[in-house]
Amino acid sequence: MRHLFTEFNVSWDQIHHLIVSTPHSPYLRRHRMTYIIGRVQLVAFAFAIFIPLWSVIDYFTFPWPQWAVLTGMRACSSAMLFALAWPWKIEASPRNAFGMTALMLMGPPIFYLASLPLFAGLELDTLGEISLSLYGLLPYIVLAGLSVFPLTIVECILFGIPVLALTAFGGYMSDTFTWASYIGNLWLALVIFGVSMFAGVSSLRYMIALVSRASLDPLTNTYTRRSGSEIIDMQFRVSARQDAPFAIVFFDLDHFKSINDSYGHDEGDKTLVMFTQNLRDLLRGSDTIVRWGGEEFLVALPNTDVRGARLVVGRIIEKWLGTRPDGTALTASIGVAERKVDSLVDWSDLVELADKRMYVAKETGRKRAVFGENDVLAEGDSYELETA
Ligand code: GH3
Ligand code: MG
Ligand code: MG
Repeated sequence: MRHLFTEFNVSWDQIHHLIVSTPHSPYLRRHRMTYIIGRVQLVAFAFAIFIPLWSVIDYFTFPWPQWAVLTGMRACSSAMLFALAWPWKIEASPRNAFGMTALMLMGPPIFYLASLPLFAGLELDTLGEISLSLYGLLPYIVLAGLSVFPLTIVECILFGIPVLALTAFGGYMSDTFTWASYIGNLWLALVIFGVSMFAGVSSLRYMIALVSRASLDPLTNTYTRRSGSEIIDMQFRVSARQDAPFAIVFFDLDHFKSINDSYGHDEGDKTLVMFTQNLRDLLRGSDTIVRWGGEEFLVALPNTDVRGARLVVGRIIEKWLGTRPDGTALTASIGVAERKVDSLVDWSDLVELADKRMYVAKETGRKRAVFGENDVLAEGDSYELETA
């Protein structure tokens, strides 16, 4: 199976990102959720205006009580859609984005189901027949509408199944039910759903490519300073809200310039790549590595207190993260700061403090980590947690 993916020049990792959202980075997740919320608001706004306007056509096609009920239903739908489209300050979380998408997508099928009993046994002229058949298209519009969202395959299925089920139920309850047209309509719904899923997943793939190109440093594959700042800002605010610890580890590689001077810029580049690969292997998936400057890196550790950060830094100092071209250890000067212990209310102050402590490490002999005044971890120091 994996062999097949390589034939088509896609990796299993890329496919995995299209099936479920669990491997998405926090940066991609936030951009995707912001995009989805924007899309929901745009579509909701268009429909909020269009839906009540259709009442004019209802007026000429349906008799009095049905027309009045339909107009009332249209007014309610429109109000709900305006509420969705309203520019509230909405946090770009999956819960908000998918909640809003579900509300918008479920509207038309519910409208369709609610309108079915209204039309039962109604005598209509040709215009009325046309209008009624357009009502029957509402679930298909929703299935087609899925295509405007950059969704994973699992998300498409989760959104599609209830709409398909409603379509099946509505078709079965319809006045004009015949098995032949019922099966034909279900088949059409499935085809539209399949095409929508293909379009949605394709736009997700495109979004992933664009977001990673814009947010990752091409040499080391770590976050750039700009995208890294966004992630740290977001994670800092989450940790403040949850009163959780949040640590920043700031690295500046020692005597890096001499690698370039003695062995050339390419060797310097290779050393940077090796350093970041080894760093990534040592960290958790939820930790973020940012290339802050040339040979300065920053690691954001959410839900990690000073003891946890000491464990991570201790493991690094014990063996260091690779060797210089001359075979000696690639050491770094390290500064660590933590939101709660250092009582900071702004993410940039946290980074600044870690940077300042890195300078203290640099000035007091390099190849060490500074956690605070008189709190230094150097080679050979014990860093393991005391057992509670
Ligand atoms: P120290 O930090 O221990 O004081 O010494 P240093 O030699 O590392 O000093 P400094 O931090 O001032 O120098 C950073 C050097 O890193 C300068 C630059 O040549 C090199 N550098 C920055 N970015 C890159 C890069 O992308 N590739 C390579 N090969 N070198 C880089
Ligand atoms: Mg530097
Ligand atoms: Mg340096």
